[in-house]
Amino acid sequence: MRKIIIEVKNLVKRYGDFEAVKGISFEVEEGEIFGLLGPNGAGKSTSLEIMETLRFKTSGEVIIDGFCLDKEPEKIKRIIGVQLQTSGFYPGLKLTELIDLFNGLYNEKVDALSLLKTVNLEDKAESRYKSLSGGQKQRFSIATTLINHPKIIFLDEPTTGLDPQARRNLWELIKSIRDKGTTVIITTHYMDEAEILCDRVAIMDEGRIIALDSPGNMIDKLLSRGFERVREVKGASLEDVFIQLTGHAMRDE
Ligand code: ADP
Ligand code: MG
Repeated sequence: MRKIIIEVKNLVKRYGDFEAVKGISFEVEEGEIFGLLGPNGAGKSTSLEIMETLRFKTSGEVIIDGFCLDKEPEKIKRIIGVQLQTSGFYPGLKLTELIDLFNGLYNEKVDALSLLKTVNLEDKAESRYKSLSGGQKQRFSIATTLINHPKIIFLDEPTTGLDPQARRNLWELIKSIRDKGTTVIITTHYMDEAEILCDRVAIMDEGRIIALDSPGNMIDKLLSRGFERVREVKGASLEDVFIQLTGHAMRDE
């Protein structure tokens, strides 16, 4: 059993009379890619932002790498990487200038070029943020989560709106970050992505976790209840056709 790096117990979040998160509990192991899935409004972002210390909880307990959210939020901030919405960057600044800005914010001295290299953006170092494609913007925003050498990074729908090539490219990036030892918490609406990327997923609906397991176990459980797909499954998907025809190469370079 690996070390538990995130522990959430009976987490509740109320917005006025509305209970958006209704007492969820789960644990995340160090070094795993943990997915939070669920329809819009399920409470994923709210839960994430509470763990990120960006939003106050109503009740419950959150412990991150041994630090209690109530008592030591500053210590938690130091060991996590939070992805800003892409609209959060100054559009007119060059990537190197934005990294310097983050260096100042975190009191770090990360070398901009080598950081950009880890996300395959070294050629764009002197480009302005606004000139990047959607996939490049996402890669850049993931790079900025790494500036303080975090133990855990939180990614809220990092692949929404990307084309299939950019999406696959981002999967490789996220896996490589995890392979270096960083724990990843990610939300996504793409089930193929969760199946490929996540070690375990929690499915949320209306503020509750209704299932939590590895994607493989969840599928096996469904099948063991007698579930059968109505349509015959082909050995390839339309996305496979798309990638075969258009290639794996990124188009936004
Ligand atoms: P998800 O990320 O799963 O789509 P959210 O956590 O963003 O869900 O939202 C969960 C529920 O809480 C939604 O019904 C949403 O409308 C509501 N909600 C989110 N933020 C606020 C807020 N600041 N004030 C009031 N209601 C909110
Ligand atoms: Mg959300």
